[in-house]
Amino acid sequence: MAVVERATPWMGICTILAVDSSSISYQACAVCERPVADGGAAACRCSRPFRRFYRLLISVATADEVLAVVCFDRVARGLVGGPADEFVDLCSVNEESVQGVLSGLEGEPFWMTLTRPRSGAAQHLRVTAMVPLSSAFCPLMELLQ
Ligand SMILES: [Zn+2]
Repeated sequence: MAVVERATPWMGICTILAVDSSSISYQACAVCERPVADGGAAACRCSRPFRRFYRLLISVATADEVLAVVCFDRVARGLVGGPADEFVDLCSVNEESVQGVLSGLEGEPFWMTLTRPRSGAAQHLRVTAMVPLSSAFCPLMELLQ
């Protein structure tokens, strides 16, 4: 059965083919995590600073198929090695493009848990857990420091 048709989470080996570097994060309230509305206005009344939350769109290959998956903040932090604001800053301090740094993930194998989105409108499977299979794997930010 294709992964997208499964009612239960799928677990297995996925190799990263590409990470879409055109949009890797969105701004949201640091407290309630509501995304900032169009035009940059707060969508809540927390009156707290915004921060970036990861939303990585990744193409992965299983043994049988190629899938488009989305990786949100909690899981992406482990992959990158720190919060999205720090990652973007660190790339710029090192004069590295985000795209160039993310391309270092291509070809990396992971043990992934993929879960069907709760909302019927969401298009992509969600990565709810990922563990690197290469013993040489190092989070991206550690490579930059
Ligand atoms: Zn808020």
